[in-house]
Amino acid sequence: MNRAPLLRLRPGTPVLSRGGGQVQCGSDPRWSFVLSGLTPAEETWLGEVAERRHVTLEQAAARCGVPVERRDEIVSVLVRAGVLVPVAGTVGAVTAPADGAADATVLGMLRPDGAGLATLADRARRTVGLMGLGRLGTSVAQHLATAGTGCLVLHDPLPVQVTDLGLGGLRPADVGQVRHDAVRSLLARRSPRTRAHVDDGGLDLTELDLVVVVEPHAAHPARYQRLLGLGVPHLPVVVREADVVVGPLVRPGRSACVACVDLARADADREWPALAAQLRETTEPTHEATLAALASATAAGQVLAQLDGHRPAAVGACLEISLPAGLPRAHQVDPHPRCGCVVLPS
Ligand SMILES: [Zn+2]
Repeated sequence: MNRAPLLRLRPGTPVLSRGGGQVQCGSDPRWSFVLSGLTPAEETWLGEVAERRHVTLEQAAARCGVPVERRDEIVSVLVRAGVLVPVAGTVGAVTAPADGAADATVLGMLRPDGAGLATLADRARRTVGLMGLGRLGTSVAQHLATAGTGCLVLHDPLPVQVTDLGLGGLRPADVGQVRHDAVRSLLARRSPRTRAHVDDGGLDLTELDLVVVVEPHAAHPARYQRLLGLGVPHLPVVVREADVVVGPLVRPGRSACVACVDLARADADREWPALAAQLRETTEPTHEATLAALASATAAGQVLAQLDGHRPAAVGACLEISLPAGLPRAHQVDPHPRCGCVVLPS
């Protein structure tokens, strides 16, 4: 059976001539490969397939004078290499800007079927909760909305501070407003397709696909107990003196939780519980611009990896971002034997 009419070159894949009958498909070392022993007609054909995406493989091969047997042979090699994908079908509604034109090609690279729009349609059906809407949390909300998340549920009843402005898009006129109201208005202006609700206390947490909590100094295990018990994935983002810790992203019952991290810390420092209690009474660190930008993008990336069905780097790890390096460093965190959130092998 000839499957070629149903296939197309994976969108975004560069087709590059290396000379001497060699063509390279892709430039990313994770999946690029070289075809050798091609005739000039076959090289022309592959170049045309890359440049004229509306022309079918068969039409282009016929025009370039590639024999049918060689065409089918090369097509089967390209299928095995994963560079030919099915012609896109219809997907559900997309809330990302420009109907996903900026994102679909890259997201398609991460899927066997190349259907980046399907990833965006799936994101459009997802709901993410956000608690803590200072400078960093507001920026996380912006990233998630821009990336096509369908619904955000916002919670932070404190007033907008002057230190919340700039990054994320809050303006001087927003100062003094309730943060979750100000961020909802901001999202309505900038990402009108994303639904933004304020959590007024009547929220059914099980409707959330994931909850992001931005908090100062140290993640407080008690804040996450309900989410853990209800099986709702969650991601703490902890702002410290000159660094931010993103993670662990908790898949309840399947990966180390916030209490696991806290227990490990108490193992290493017996005074930790007393110190943590004092930190909870200590003035919150402000969200420095570069740290907040890096941490919000990192957090949003972890959330989207989870929504998209990948394994986020922050599952079983804390991603520490400190200045001046600004590079996330992953520290593995394991389920703690005394926590009981994950059934450990005996
Ligand atoms: Zn645990």
